[in-house]
Amino acid sequence: MRLVIGKPLGFCFGVKRAIDKLEAALKDYGKVYALGSPIHNEEEVKRLISLGLELVEAVEELPQSSVVFIRAHGTTPEILEKAREKGCTIIDGTCPSVKNAQEKARLLSQEGYEVIVVGDPKHPEVQSIKGCTAGRASVVSSSKDVTDFPSKDKIGVVSQTTQEEGTLLSIVSVLLRKARELRAYNTICKATLHRQETVRKLAAETEGIIVIGGRNSTNTAKLVEVGKREGSDVLWIAKPDEIDKSWLENKHIIGIAAGASTPDWLINDVINSLSSR
Ligand code: SF4
Repeated sequence: MRLVIGKPLGFCFGVKRAIDKLEAALKDYGKVYALGSPIHNEEEVKRLISLGLELVEAVEELPQSSVVFIRAHGTTPEILEKAREKGCTIIDGTCPSVKNAQEKARLLSQEGYEVIVVGDPKHPEVQSIKGCTAGRASVVSSSKDVTDFPSKDKIGVVSQTTQEEGTLLSIVSVLLRKARELRAYNTICKATLHRQETVRKLAAETEGIIVIGGRNSTNTAKLVEVGKREGSDVLWIAKPDEIDKSWLENKHIIGIAAGASTPDWLINDVINSLSSR
């Protein structure tokens, strides 16, 4: 069996930056609260909890004057304000690419555009972007969602950073006929595009791809989708013991890809486990 390791692989710059900030805060303060899971990877979350991280779901659960970590997906201005009112020290791990999408949405809203966010309405990053428009933006996931969208003078579009470019393009092309003025920002981050491109290459060069990443990671799910669309036999695993023996049978060249929230130590564990076979 030969392994072809995709590049880039694992932590993107935004997640690495956020985790570095969180680890430094854990060292300085001992106890840090995170609003929601700080990273979409359960194994990495377990490691951070062992260092003193505590997860809370809502700002109301934060103790007075505690230290709170904002994950790479960012949060809404409203939640930030509530944390400040509680006297919390804020460690802001919001990825600069997410900040860019938030700022573009805020700008469009302030300039009177009907704002459309392309993404998953339940995803925390999308909620943080929508929050920057005082909740006025509409969230859509496919061109079908905008087919019946009413015509407007000014429509502005931004995207969740982990979307596929094709989805954004198809939505923008439908909206083009619905606005006198359309302003669209491609806020998909390069780290996402590069990882999707890696999977396309692996699909062409290998007999199957193992994608490593958390089940709750959108960018990992997109890699799986891209691989399958390219006709590859894709196995999605969250940890080494999920490698399915029957999937490996009769495969001689296997590609390895990983989501932007998959830590290096976990990728190495998977590679070591495969090498030892
Ligand atoms: S995938 Fe992109 S936007 Fe998301 S954290 Fe990484 S660099 Fe930032």
